[in-house]
Amino acid sequence: MNNTIAVIRGDGIGPEIMDATLRVLDAMKLGLQYDFVEAGLAAYEKDGELLPQATLDAIAKHRIALKSPLTTPVGEGFSSINVLLRRKFDLYANVRPAISFPNTRSRFPENVDLITVRENTEGAYAGEGQQVSEDGATATLVQKVTRKGSERIVRYAFDLARRNGRKKVTVVHKANILKSTSGLFLKVAREVAAQYPDIACNELIVDNCCMQLVMKPEQFDVIVTTNLFGDIISDLCAGLVGGLGLAPGANIGADAAIFEAVHGSAPDIAGKGIANPCALLLGAAQMLDHLARTDEADRLRHAIRATLEARDRVTPDLGGSGTTATFADAIIERL
Ligand code: NAD
Repeated sequence: MNNTIAVIRGDGIGPEIMDATLRVLDAMKLGLQYDFVEAGLAAYEKDGELLPQATLDAIAKHRIALKSPLTTPVGEGFSSINVLLRRKFDLYANVRPAISFPNTRSRFPENVDLITVRENTEGAYAGEGQQVSEDGATATLVQKVTRKGSERIVRYAFDLARRNGRKKVTVVHKANILKSTSGLFLKVAREVAAQYPDIACNELIVDNCCMQLVMKPEQFDVIVTTNLFGDIISDLCAGLVGGLGLAPGANIGADAAIFEAVHGSAPDIAGKGIANPCALLLGAAQMLDHLARTDEADRLRHAIRATLEARDRVTPDLGGSGTTATFADAIIERL
C-alpha cells in the first residue's frame, strides 16, 4: 500500500490550512509519510520556476498528492499550475462531492449528497483552435470531444457509483444544440450506461439540470458531464451546500491523483490564521477513499460533521470566532 504522499503547501492561506490538515491526519495515526514539494509562488521565489521538475517527479513517484491552493500570478506568460498538472498527468476526472453540512450558510443544510464528475481534458477548455482574427473582430473556439475521452469519464462515473453504493448517474449534456460534440458524449454515455444495469441512468439538458439543482438538489446522486458544464455545475453545487470553505475536489488520472480544496489562496485573509481548513480536510478524506481506506475517510468526515453540528471553534466564514488551528483541535477531539 502507498503510504507516502507528495504534499504541496501552496501559498496565501495554503500553508495554514495544510498544517491544520496534516495535524488532523497525524492525529488519526494513519502511518502516512509526507514528501514536501513546492509549486507556484513558493517555488518561483525559491528557484525561479513555478512547477519544478522535482515536484513533478515526486507526484509521478508517489502517484498521490495533497495540494493547497496556488496563486496564479496575473500577467501574460503565467499558466495556471492546476491546468499544467492536469495536462502533465492526464488527470481526466475532476470529482467534486457536494454534501449538506449543518450550521453553514447553505439553503440546503440537509439531504444534498451528490458528486459531480467532470471531464477534465477535452471540450471547450482544451485550448486548441482558440484564436482571434487579426483585426480583432472575430474570436473562434474549436471544441473537441472524443469517444475515448467520453467513454473513460462516463465509465469512471459509473464505477464510482458502484463502489460507493450509489444508485443513479445523471448524464448532463446539450446534445439538442451542440449536436456533434455533446451528441457524441451522450451517444457514448448511453453505450456505457447499458453495461451497468445495476445503476439507474437518466439524461438532462444542462440548462434544465441547473434549474433542477437549484429547486430540488436532493434528487441527484452522481452527475457526469463535459468540461465546461462540469466546471459551472460543480461550483453551483458548492454554493448549494454552504460555499467554498466546505468544497473539496480531486483530479484523477490512471497514473496519478491530486486532492485539494476547490477554493483559491484567499489573499484577503492570508496570514490571519482564520481560514477554514474543512475543504482541504474533505479533500484528504477523498484521498483516503482513493487509497481504499474508506473507514478512515468516513471517520474524518464524521468528525468534521460533529464539529460543525456543535459549532465548536468554527472559523468566521461559518459565523464562529475560532481560528484555523482551534477548528482543527475541535475536529481532532471528535475523531
Ligand atoms: P479564493 O477562493 O481564493 O477566495 C474567494 C473568497 O473566499 C475570498 O473572500 C476568500 O477569503 C474566501 N475563502 C476562500 N477560501 C476560504 C477558506 N478556506 N476559509 C475562509 N474563507 C475562504 O478566490 P480568488 O480570490 O478569486 O483567488 C485567489 C487566488 O487563488 C488567485 O490567484 C487564483 O488564481 C487562485 N486559485 C487557485 C486555485 C487552486 O489552486 N486550486 C483555485 C481557485 C483560485
